[in-house]
Amino acid sequence: MFEKILIANRGEIALRIHRACRELGIQTVAVHSTADADAMHVRLADESVCIGPPAPRQSYLNMQAILTAATITGAEAIHPGVGFLAENADFAQMVQDHGLVFIGPSPEHIRIMGDKITAKRAVQALGIPTVPGSDGPVTSDEEALDIARRIGFPILIKAAAGGGGKGMKICRNEEDLRTQLPVARSEARSFFGNDAVFFEKFLEKPRHIELQILGDGQGNVIHLGERDCSLQRRHQKLLEEAPSPALNADEREAIGQIALKAMGTLGYASAGTLEFLYEDGQFYFIEMNTRLQVEHPVSEFITGIDLVREQIRIAAGGKLTLKQEDVRFSGAAIEVRINAEHPETFAPSPGKIGEYHAPGGPGVRVDSALYSGYKVPSHYDSLVSKLIVYGKTRNECLMRLRRALEEYVIGGIQTTIPLHQKIIADPDFITGDYTIHWLEHFMERAA
Ligand code: ADP
Repeated sequence: MFEKILIANRGEIALRIHRACRELGIQTVAVHSTADADAMHVRLADESVCIGPPAPRQSYLNMQAILTAATITGAEAIHPGVGFLAENADFAQMVQDHGLVFIGPSPEHIRIMGDKITAKRAVQALGIPTVPGSDGPVTSDEEALDIARRIGFPILIKAAAGGGGKGMKICRNEEDLRTQLPVARSEARSFFGNDAVFFEKFLEKPRHIELQILGDGQGNVIHLGERDCSLQRRHQKLLEEAPSPALNADEREAIGQIALKAMGTLGYASAGTLEFLYEDGQFYFIEMNTRLQVEHPVSEFITGIDLVREQIRIAAGGKLTLKQEDVRFSGAAIEVRINAEHPETFAPSPGKIGEYHAPGGPGVRVDSALYSGYKVPSHYDSLVSKLIVYGKTRNECLMRLRRALEEYVIGGIQTTIPLHQKIIADPDFITGDYTIHWLEHFMERAA
């Protein structure tokens, strides 16, 4: 097992990784920008290294600075967390080339899955169903029209290198397609440095259902069930739950088996997530994330498995100790993302935290970097806390979430807590009857 791990991230996820290391008796090195000198994970880590100014490009994305920090502190492994360098195949390779361990999958798997076109081809070859669409990048208008006629409108233009829900364009007819294609390409170039775009059939009422995978790279793979992440705003998740209220046991078993077989053949190592759209009883793969996900705690709650601990054990050469039949699913869990944003306009609300009181009691987990007096910087993602609750049933989970949100006090800034309170009081949400478009309609109704 490692003696010292460098955590190449910030915020709540850095703290989450620190906690897993601590429980394994591993020392931690925090790296941070000048804006994060007072962050909780920096305070708690055994050592910390300032790697640059606030701008991510000069700090959390600065590979050289991070590798230097690992070398001077004698860290043996690097956990990239979520975002920043977590899905950067070049970084994973550089870490290995420096004789260190990258806590994640192989650079090759990161590379294949990092491009949505190569990812779709790879999983199709492994027997996973995908959304109908173009088989590769689309460049010319003529080609675009041909493909659109074949798959039928509406279609969605997506960036091969896309992420964060950015740059997708819905086209309902040929005219839309002619105008949107060049826009999509130029946006893809400016957001992701790669103008390759492809087409998918735009599904009108799907749910976003994803499967948590854990592999040891030695052919052993388990899945930890699904998460339903249909509650989204601008294609960004706001609330996640497990199990999905829409799936039955047979559907879960069927998609689970397909995924296990595919990931076993691939020889996948570490935690990963297969994302699907689910409509009329069918699953359609959209992408794979080769890293830990923000919403991993809901899977941890319903299985009792610590995903970060498993990632670390596997990176240290350990085998999976569990077989699929040993994974026991019980109860229901919901996570709400608490962002430092105005709950109606979503305007960012950085600033100094005044009074702070986190909820507790049975079945409540708070993964948060906040504390009283902490200053939320304006340079980064607005996610400041995750409230995750567990219940023996979905109903118990909802009651618990309601009371935990009531208890939560975050003074000094605006947060999305009031929005979550409204969402979970809505009859559709209570019955579990919602698709990826539900939240947009809900916001319109509320306005
Ligand atoms: P990103 O990598 O930018 O997050 P994804 O491919 O994961 O992009 O898609 C993000 C979200 O966009 C999905 O959860 C879903 O809400 C929506 N989406 C993606 N593909 C489709 C599609 N073919 N039809 C309808 N909605 C889609």
